[in-house]
Amino acid sequence: MFKQGKVGFIGLGIMGKPMAKNLIKAGYGLVVYDVAKAPVDELVAMGATAAATCKQVAQLCNGLLFTMLPNSPHVKEVIMGENSVLDGAKRGLIIVDTSSIAPLAAQECYAAAKDKGVSYVDAPVSGGEPKAVEGTLAIMVGGDEDAFDKVKELLLIVGASAVHCGESGSGNTTKLANQIIVALNIAAVGEAFVLAKKAGVDPEKVFDAIKGGLAGSTVMNAKVPLALEGNFKPGFRIELHIKDLQNALDTAHEVGVPVPLSAGVMEIMQALKVDGKAGDDHGGIIQYYEKLADIEVRK
Ligand code: NAD
Repeated sequence: MFKQGKVGFIGLGIMGKPMAKNLIKAGYGLVVYDVAKAPVDELVAMGATAAATCKQVAQLCNGLLFTMLPNSPHVKEVIMGENSVLDGAKRGLIIVDTSSIAPLAAQECYAAAKDKGVSYVDAPVSGGEPKAVEGTLAIMVGGDEDAFDKVKELLLIVGASAVHCGESGSGNTTKLANQIIVALNIAAVGEAFVLAKKAGVDPEKVFDAIKGGLAGSTVMNAKVPLALEGNFKPGFRIELHIKDLQNALDTAHEVGVPVPLSAGVMEIMQALKVDGKAGDDHGGIIQYYEKLADIEVRK
């Protein structure tokens, strides 16, 4: 399904570009749009068609359109704003929004799409740029199950797993849970490794000794080797994780759940932002602890 004609893809940043490339490599034609020209040119060089607007992507695509954008306002603009996807959409189109946005914003897009006979699933991803490049993302999906069933085959090209979590917004609620766990895990790893270093133990030895035990984690395996090199090039920018934690705090408070540890890590990220590090990878959270303790965890 969807191999005839072109699949739409809007938002070709750190995540969207490799995902779009993987669809092309799997034999799908693409029609693409991004406000930035460079990634569009790169996809066109691989055979994609460039559209002039989001509306045009919807007009030219074959019934399926992906979006991968920074946050709720960008998605609402692209789906419902001027020259938007819904302006160009034919009945039956399925929109798969893979951005991480507020669950409430996803539900607004779902309702606006439904009014036009269009399906909208929220399908945020986890795994970062390396897994986007490999096509092994973990994908969490909210929305109508029949739409999910139709797009699952393509989700399993950009991802290694795709789980239908429930009705519209559930994918993004699941992603908020994911982002809380990742943020707290990175902070715990940073706190622990700064302690070990200042107490005089080689951080590489600490990593080797504990990574196979209960403290080991995907986060530790991904972020500690980079911290040891002082490499905080994104990856996933601290400013995007601030966005996710803000969405988590708002959603938690709306449903009546206090989230004290998330609030604490949010303030650590705010301090890093004031320190000019909002564009660093979120693995750079360790720099907050390094500054407090006046020591660097490097090889
Ligand atoms: P990014 O900033 O690299 O990419 C976003 C892209 O959207 C950019 O190319 C930008 O030009 C484009 N864009 C913005 N507004 C637009 C508009 N109105 N019309 C068309 N294009 C527009 O961000 P990213 O790192 O790729 O993240 C995208 C989403 O994926 C975010 O919600 C993020 O939280 C989530 N995410 C990121 C990672 C990661 O490791 N980077 C991992 C999982 C999830």
